[in-house]
Amino acid sequence: MAIGVVRGWTGRALALATALFLGTSPSALHAGGKLNVVATTSDLAALAIEVGGDKVGVSAIARGYQDPHFVEAKPSFLLNLRRADLVVAVGLELEAGWLPPLLNQCGNPKVQPASQGYFDASQSAEILEIPAGPVSRAMGDVHPMGNPHYWLDPANGLRIATGLAQRLAQLSPGDAAYFQARLEDFRKRLGEAERRWDERMKPYRGRKVITYHRSWPNFAKRFGLQVVDFVEPRPGIPPSPGHLVALMARMKRENIKAILVEPYFDLKTPQSVARETGGQVVVLMPSVGGNKDTGDYIRLFDYDVELVARALQTDK
Ligand SMILES: [Zn+2]
Repeated sequence: MAIGVVRGWTGRALALATALFLGTSPSALHAGGKLNVVATTSDLAALAIEVGGDKVGVSAIARGYQDPHFVEAKPSFLLNLRRADLVVAVGLELEAGWLPPLLNQCGNPKVQPASQGYFDASQSAEILEIPAGPVSRAMGDVHPMGNPHYWLDPANGLRIATGLAQRLAQLSPGDAAYFQARLEDFRKRLGEAERRWDERMKPYRGRKVITYHRSWPNFAKRFGLQVVDFVEPRPGIPPSPGHLVALMARMKRENIKAILVEPYFDLKTPQSVARETGGQVVVLMPSVGGNKDTGDYIRLFDYDVELVARALQTDK
């Protein structure tokens, strides 16, 4: 009990010191009693809103239609980070090109990596494609620590939400029961949605698909698809003509028709591959809010599952 009191005062003293350091009042740090959450992506922001409800104010850095590997820094991001109580990041170096400089410059000690105000969502999630040995540039540019597109499995969404509920409760202990109730409600709605998605995808389990980038291993594993090849030979490396010739030969040989692509990649190459092979390009949305039909985490899967099912339905 005594320790709790000491800790409480230490926390308050730190908050006050932070506030003075930043030249803002403590009330500005917790406007309306809300925790300020900055998520690096719209998916993590959506999960923070699911759990945090009206006890959090959430903003996202990367938009749902943007390539999260490459985000241009804007002054507004620094302002949001300066006021943040919690930063939620994908981790696994997805944001390696742009988040560290923003954190360095924001002048907010509370949200630096390894502090309580920094939540690395990858530590709550199942991660695929973790390299077994040493990593070299030859393996590609962007996935050196395992696949960072892990939010595209609803089980990982629930794991991340669970981790977020714990972290939000640590930052705002008085709201712990509220966060827990929101988490349980999300778990229930997600479970209902998963039954719907499973039903829709059932006829297509085991089907082979091609993807442009390695964004979909968690999605494919969850819904029983086999991603057998990629338009990009390695993450972040554009395809050579030789690679495309081999890819098209394989698609014809194995009767693979669907090429799953994110909207921010150049569609010309996948479209010409599809033309040559009698296949089709399926432009999936990899992140919440990429268009008007993907406004929250569950609707993102509603959208993608329906597009994949329709594509596999027409391919025979
Ligand atoms: Zn990637």
